[in-house]
Amino acid sequence: MTAAAKDRIGPLARSVIAGDRRALAQAITLIESTRADHRDDAAHLVDLLVAKAGGSFRLGISGPPGVGKSTFIERFGLHLIEEGHRVAVLAVDPSSRISGGSILGDKTRMPDLSRNDAAFIRPSPAGDTLGGVARRTREALIACEAAGFDIVIVETVGVGQSETAVAGLTDAFLLLLQPGSGDELQGIKRGVMELADLLVVNKTDGTLREAALLAAAEYRAALGLLRPTKEGWTPEVLSCSGLNGTGIEEVRAALERYRAILVGNGTIARLRAEQNRHWLKTELTEGLIERLRTDPRVAKAIARLEKEVAAGRRTPLAAAEEILAALSLPDRPKPG
Ligand code: GDP
Repeated sequence: MTAAAKDRIGPLARSVIAGDRRALAQAITLIESTRADHRDDAAHLVDLLVAKAGGSFRLGISGPPGVGKSTFIERFGLHLIEEGHRVAVLAVDPSSRISGGSILGDKTRMPDLSRNDAAFIRPSPAGDTLGGVARRTREALIACEAAGFDIVIVETVGVGQSETAVAGLTDAFLLLLQPGSGDELQGIKRGVMELADLLVVNKTDGTLREAALLAAAEYRAALGLLRPTKEGWTPEVLSCSGLNGTGIEEVRAALERYRAILVGNGTIARLRAEQNRHWLKTELTEGLIERLRTDPRVAKAIARLEKEVAAGRRTPLAAAEEILAALSLPDRPKPG
């Protein structure tokens, strides 16, 4: 970290911690940048913010496209704000680049919530890799917490790619479903179902009400076969309408019950410790791969040894060991 970078990042961190929303937006833009010099700045920034983070309830919300995620989050978010909370929403969408069916980019998805001073809504652009998306989301979450948001919702599209990553950085995972289509038809993978601490059948209103209640009963029966998701917690199935607000109180109450039990028995603390250990390993692996890709000594060794291996003069194992040895890991002098 150069002195100039310190001069840039220190004040930005202080503004974020003071709750300045423009600074928070700017911080997340820096965190999301893929430029190498920005990565260094972002890492320094997150280092400064992390001491002020950790104070929120981190809620993952997922569900297939059209199930009503934005309608639900708007209603639910406003409810939380009425209780006195400050709510940040980070929308993650690694699939949009492939499918074009983005959950993002539409600033009008949650119009009332986005206008509210106690809310902060941030769509994250699609990343190149799921690991990249998860890393940036984790860092954005830390920034939101440092800025004083005490409930952070991480929203994903819910077709199976990103849920494991999101479940790996949240305290609770809520899966939104809709009536009458069955989980196969909704494109929900069994693995995603098994991650859910709460299953909420949305659209329990009007002509869809009966079908929604039936679907909830079916999910409840199916859930009987599932294990507890966390120590002290067996998943629950609830019904609600994001549109007219029915059942929103019950969802809120279930989440509060969940939080109280899992904070009380130490599960959330253990979960976060485990998530941090996992994060460290991921950063290590990705850092090593990045060094392998970019280190000139490794490139030279690969160029030389590839030929030897192709010609049968060296075994791949011996060559791989020699390449790894080329990546000796001296302490890189810390700039600044
Ligand atoms: P998302 O793609 O999951 O974010 O879904 P949206 O919130 O954009 O909603 C998709 C469609 O379902 C819209 O036409 C909404 O008006 C409708 N919708 C959302 N929530 C409800 C609900 O609780 N009841 C009914 N009947 N329709 C809903």
